[in-house]
This record gives sequence, C-alpha cells and structure tokens, in this order.
Amino acid sequence: MSKKVLVLGEVREGVIRNVSYESIAAAKQIADGGEIVGLLLGDSVSSLAPNLIAYGADRVVTVEHPHLKSYTSDGYSQAILAVYEKEKPEAIVIGHTSLGKDLSPKISSRLKSGLVSDVTEIEGSGDSALFIRPIYSGKAFEKVKVKEGIVFITIRPNNIAPLEKDASRSGSVESPAVEITNLRTIIKEVIRKTTEGVDLSEAKVVVAGGRGVKSEEGFEPLKELANLLGGAVGASRGACDADYCDYSLQIGQTGKVVTPDLYIAAGISGAIQHLAGMSNSKVIVAINKDPEANIFKVADYGIVGDLFEVIPLMIEEIKALKVGS
Ligand SMILES: Cc1cc2nc3c(=O)[nH]c(=O)nc-3n(C[C@H](O)[C@H](O)[C@H](O)COP(=O)(O)OP(=O)(O)OC[C@H]3O[C@@H](n4cnc5c(N)ncnc54)[C@H](O)[C@@H]3O)c2cc1C
Repeated sequence: MSKKVLVLGEVREGVIRNVSYESIAAAKQIADGGEIVGLLLGDSVSSLAPNLIAYGADRVVTVEHPHLKSYTSDGYSQAILAVYEKEKPEAIVIGHTSLGKDLSPKISSRLKSGLVSDVTEIEGSGDSALFIRPIYSGKAFEKVKVKEGIVFITIRPNNIAPLEKDASRSGSVESPAVEITNLRTIIKEVIRKTTEGVDLSEAKVVVAGGRGVKSEEGFEPLKELANLLGGAVGASRGACDADYCDYSLQIGQTGKVVTPDLYIAAGISGAIQHLAGMSNSKVIVAINKDPEANIFKVADYGIVGDLFEVIPLMIEEIKALKVGS
C-alpha cells in the first residue's frame, strides 16, 4: 500500500542540510508511489521550499514562527505534531543528527508510535520495507520491519544517496499558522564552537588525529589535508583528553558517529570505543608508527610510518594532482 510520508528538512544557518535530501530519498522508498510532504521549520524558511521539491518532495509545508528561529525540542515538537494532526501521514523520516536524536523519541512517545533509529539502508519498499541499522556499536546489523502503526525512522547521514536534483519539478508550498506556546526553554543566542569548514557528521572525507598527533599544532597538517580533500577534521578521545583539540571533534562511542567515503586515521591506536564511531566508513586509511596497532585491523589501506612524514607527502601529492588536472 502506498503511504504519505512527512520528511523534516533540517535547516542550519539558512541552509538545508544534505541529510534532508537523503531523507526524501528514503521517504520515496517507504512511500511506494505515495505523496512526499517536506516540512520546514524556522523563523524564515519559505524561500528554501523549492529545494526540497527539486530533490523529490511533492509538496512542502512551512511553519514560520519567531520561537522556531533556534531549535528547541519543545518548539519543534509542537510544530511537527500540529502538522502531523493536519496531514496524518503514514510515515515520518528525520535525519539521525543531534537534532533528530533529541527530537524523534519525544515525537514518537507523543504519537505512541515505534521508532526505528539510525537507519543506514532500506531494502524493499512500501509495506515490505526492511530497515537496516547498526547495533552493538556497529559490530552487527539488524533488519527491522514495521508491522503496524506509523513508520517512523531516523536515517544516518551519508548512507542513503539523495535523488538527483531536478529544478524543473514543481509542487505547492503551504504555510499554516501554528501556535507555539509555553516553551520551557527560550534560546537567546547561539554561539557555535566550530563554525568554519565542513560539518563533521556529514563530511564525505574525515581526517582524524589521535594522541600520536602530540599537540594542538600537530593538528595543522591534518587540517591542511582535510581542506585539500574538502573534508573535516575529527579526533580520538585520546587527543581531546590531551587538550589537542575540542571535544566537538571526538569520534567514537561517546562522540560522533561518522560514515564518510574516506576516513584517514592518523596516530590513532584503534580502541574499540573509537572504532564504534568510524568502522562503517567506506574506505579507511590508517597511518601509525606501530605495525601492531589495532586500527590496521579495520583499515583498507595501512601506512606504517610517522604521520609527520606521511601527511606532508600526501599533501604534496594531492597538490601536484590538483595542479596537473
Ligand atoms: C567508556 C569509554 C568511552 C570511550 N569513548 C571513546 C570515544 O568515543 N572515542 C575515542 O576515540 N575513544 C574513546 N574512549 C577511549 C579509548 O578507549 C582510547 O583510550 C582512545 O581512543 C585512545 O586514543 P588514541 O588512539 O588517540 O591514543 P593512543 O591509544 O595513545 O594511541 C596513539 C597512537 O598513535 C601512534 N603514534 C604515536 N606517534 C605517532 C606518529 N608520530 N605517527 C604515527 N603514529 C603515531 C601510536 O603508535 C598509537 O597507536 C573511551 C573509553 C571509555 C572507557
């Protein structure tokens, strides 16, 4: 049976995050010919609606309210539940981002629905869709089928390819008035710790450093390599604990989970807690002085050597390739 699917378009600093387009692609599979309704929340987001349509939404609902300028779980859940009541979709898709992880349990408990979180792949479509998600810190995968009720999923960024952009697609944009009241939290100002560069959770390339990087300055060549590859810098907890970088860069069980196309681990031993955050990356390159380091067990390419010699060589090679092309 075809389904109407509501997809949350996540906006950060006036830009729709890529995971929103990936969510539309996931929604198409669940909808099985049904309607895809994009949802944008914020204080001024209507101008972004055509982007969701170009990536596959049939229609977009925008809720604009001063209380939605910054994310709060109270404000967003009120807006989403109001739109849910009006639209009565059979499925909801949200990105498994910090926002999605905070919001989705609240919405599912209000709707008394189940929640399949952190989906990395969908097999089949419509009623027979199977949702694949990592369990036990990525050591195994389970396949989940939703047998009754609303199909509510969150999808991990960078795993489900968005549909091709088609700017010629058209669809209606509606802006219903929604009351956002009794907020327990009012955000006065947002000060971001890291504003420059690519978002770590969505980066296609991650260059991560560990305790082997030895200092804050030691991260400079990693930053240069990441910039050259259009990627982001990450870190092990060892590097964060040693104060070489900010905890917002930590990857692993108690940090961020990333699945880039390319993960370069430099001076990282490969503790199980670190692997939990990166072992599902598509290609892993490890640079470590110790040939016995555990990181080599998950690496597709291993370089036994000093990162301060290897990374400058990589930078040189990539620069030469860029000049040549
Ligand atoms: C409950 C719990 C949760 C945790 N959560 C996380 C988490 O989310 N993320 C995480 O990363 N860790 C986490 N940890 C910590 C984890 O167990 C490790 O201690 C940590 O990952 C080690 O960081 P590291 O690999 O940078 O350091 P180390 O283990 O000290 O490894 C440094 C590596 O650098 C290599 N090296 C040194 N110099 C060079 C050089 N010049 N060139 C090349 N290689 C060099 C060494 O050979 C070594 O392999 C957690 C631990 C616990 C108990």
